[in-house]
Amino acid sequence: MPQAGKGRLNYRCPSCFMRDLDIDMFYDREKDEYYCIRCQFTGKEEDVLRLNEMCRFRYKSMMKRITEFD
Ligand SMILES: [Zn+2]
Repeated sequence: MPQAGKGRLNYRCPSCFMRDLDIDMFYDREKDEYYCIRCQFTGKEEDVLRLNEMCRFRYKSMMKRITEFD
C-alpha cells in the first residue's frame, strides 16, 4: 500500500466548514489521524474525506432550500 504523500495533503476541517470556516487540518503521525486546532475535531483520512463530501452536499441542499422559505 503506497504511503507516500500521506499527511502532506491539506484537508479542510469538515466541522469548521459547516460553520463557514475554512481551516486546514494537521496530521498526527503517531495516531495516524488528522486534527483541527480550532474545534478539536479528529478523524482518519477517510473520515475527513467522507465528512467533507457530506458537508458539500448539505451545503448545496441548504442553498437550494433557502429560496423556498417564504
Ligand atoms: Zn475544525
